[in-house]
Amino acid sequence: MTQIITTISEMRAQVHAWRNAGECVGLVPTMGYLHEGHKSLIERSVADNDRTVVSVFVNPTQFGPNEDLESYPRDLDRDVALVTHAGADVVFHPEPEEMYFPDRSTTVHVEGLGNELCGKSRPIHFDGVCLVVSKLLNITTPDRAYFGQKDAQQLLIVRRMVRDLSIGTDIVGCPIVREPDGLAKSSRNTYLSPAERAAAVVLSRSLACGRAVVESGERSAEAVRAAIRAELATEPLAEPEYVEVVDTNTVSPVDVIAGEVLVAIAVRIGTTRLIDNFFFDPAA
Ligand code: AMP
Repeated sequence: MTQIITTISEMRAQVHAWRNAGECVGLVPTMGYLHEGHKSLIERSVADNDRTVVSVFVNPTQFGPNEDLESYPRDLDRDVALVTHAGADVVFHPEPEEMYFPDRSTTVHVEGLGNELCGKSRPIHFDGVCLVVSKLLNITTPDRAYFGQKDAQQLLIVRRMVRDLSIGTDIVGCPIVREPDGLAKSSRNTYLSPAERAAAVVLSRSLACGRAVVESGERSAEAVRAAIRAELATEPLAEPEYVEVVDTNTVSPVDVIAGEVLVAIAVRIGTTRLIDNFFFDPAA
């Protein structure tokens, strides 16, 4: 059975004991309500490392004032069962008070990479992510930490933060796990009504249209965006927030696809905001 640790001091002591035994450590940061996407990250960490910590922490600093912090789904018992089944050693589940001092005064901001895509509608989101991820990396000092490509902008920002701050953890990006019909697995999919769930497949379908365009040799970002938008327009319940093609180094929009790009979309289905993406490298 996986051990549950709720304090920073106990978590540090456990990692210290592992290190003294010569064991290497993997970390999978999550907000819980775990699904097959999270499980794929945990299984990868279990395969790569002697020990795996899965953090389950709904991080208040990455939610804006009108976002779903309170209603975000939570089920620790189910999460612990999934983590145990996936073979990890510890669930690190601190209370917000354990993680944040009331008078905390330090921010972690990666300049530029959070301006576009999700950063436009969620202005404080990535600072909150960087703060919590840097804290989790400091607490667990893992050899490797695992992040899903599902949150591609987050992955790019965390990689940059770790590089710039000389944090000694390898950031491992993992592929998107999908439902059989193509919808990217997400804890937020539970918000969807049956009709919305049926409509949500338009995200992956529209990206498939964009991918077909770029794979046919088209290098105009606008042509790719237009193909995606046209497919999204076929679904009346879908309200696109953005359809973008960005450079993977700068996360800023490109006109011409000359190097590796991230093709990313955010779409509201009813009140639920869903994201999806793919990477494309013309040189690959
Ligand atoms: P979250 O609990 O939503 O913060 O996600 C925790 C980690 O799981 C992040 O690195 C996500 O990118 C990753 N993740 C979430 N959904 C998926 C998915 N469908 N496939 C792969 N990774 C995922």
